[in-house]
Amino acid sequence: MTASDIRPDLDADTRVRADDRRHVFHSWSAQALIDPLPVAGGAGATFWDYAGNSYLDFSSQLVNLNLGHQHPDLVSAISQQAGRLATIQPSMANDTRGELARLIAGVAPDGFSKVFFTNGGADANENAVRMARLVTGKRKVLSMYRSYHGNTSTAITMTGDPRRWPNEPADASVEHFFGPYAYRSPFHSDSPEEETARALEHLEQTIILEGASTIGAIIIETIVGTNGVLIPPPGYLPGVRELCDRYGIVYIADEVMVGFGRVGEWFAVDAFDVVPDLITFAKGVNSGYVPLGGIVISDRIASHFDTVAFPGGLTYSGHPLACAPGVATFEVFRRDGILERVRDLGERVVAPRLAAIAERHPSVGDVRGRGLFWAIELVRDKATREPLVPFNASGAEAAPVAAVVAACKKAGVWPFTHFNRLHVAPPLVIGEDDLVRGLDVIDRALDEADAAV
Ligand code: PLP
Repeated sequence: MTASDIRPDLDADTRVRADDRRHVFHSWSAQALIDPLPVAGGAGATFWDYAGNSYLDFSSQLVNLNLGHQHPDLVSAISQQAGRLATIQPSMANDTRGELARLIAGVAPDGFSKVFFTNGGADANENAVRMARLVTGKRKVLSMYRSYHGNTSTAITMTGDPRRWPNEPADASVEHFFGPYAYRSPFHSDSPEEETARALEHLEQTIILEGASTIGAIIIETIVGTNGVLIPPPGYLPGVRELCDRYGIVYIADEVMVGFGRVGEWFAVDAFDVVPDLITFAKGVNSGYVPLGGIVISDRIASHFDTVAFPGGLTYSGHPLACAPGVATFEVFRRDGILERVRDLGERVVAPRLAAIAERHPSVGDVRGRGLFWAIELVRDKATREPLVPFNASGAEAAPVAAVVAACKKAGVWPFTHFNRLHVAPPLVIGEDDLVRGLDVIDRALDEADAAV
């Protein structure tokens, strides 16, 4: 089925809404204040509702749908695996699980041979921290303000955004620091070089004052995702690596959102000349068709557990139905040149169009990104950079951004928003014409933000 076959089915719409509203308890929400869209189907970069509306998915669901809705190769990999062996427990060896682990290790930096599979991103980070604590014998973890690492206890405590606040204290051994953010420099820098130097000095001071002898891990999203598509300035991540080496700290790269092609690399660390100790992944590994996450483990860390048991596990670790579309993902990426395509579309199509949008709209303060992962930062005033809506805005405060979102949806584009930003993160298989069409819709919708300036 494709978007052109959509037939409205209002009875189904009513039924789906009724079951959902009565019985489904939704994430991150006041249950009585939400109105989830009943979705009837999807294909490629498009999904549609029961009322006959279709949307270009400019958020790839939760930035996981890298190969788009209903990719035939992924669907067929799942059904073939289901027909052959639908499940097997993790302590047995399985061909599909082993093949995916080999493929992942094959695109990781040199010196990474092993993969521990989890059910998603939060438990990948949770287990990565556990490994770091066991290897170093040190408990404390440093993570950034403006970050998201997941919803389980240590992961939500490491998170540097308001989702952490109601969950504190879940893990008392986590401290936060400021990362680089050129557009709103916490260090009052005037250049990327200055931002790198000052952010590293701040991190080193944090390590010294928190006590290097107490810190087992530093976790960093290689490109900060939901909290702003913050691209690290040149030299920052290699500087973090150097500090970790100097102070005996495990460097965990959280690539749950940016791994597997989002920024035109298998792993985003490849774009920044840095090799961490652990890389966590989820989402794009199989486009989220079946829940899957994991940790790629450097040989140095893995060898610690050669003769000492790793005290962690999950019933569904390396579930074959999740690994099968992961293996198919590698085949599709290689056959269809996905990484090259993402780099090309990012540089040739998205970057110049967003630059033109920034030029044209008084409400656009900054645009930044890489590959098919971009942020449009909305402001009241380009000179002062005052955000169009406050940090953590909700309700009436968030109305100017809500108006942009409503205009996008009305014109058939489903955007990703967070505070005063719109993110552009479509499936990596989006057609160039759809990509341009979606950016044009955003361009027009931004008139709503201009009206609030
Ligand atoms: N880390 C990052 C950078 C994420 O973006 C997310 C989810 O959005 C997570 C971790 C948590 O992943 P999951 O929701 O699969 O637990």
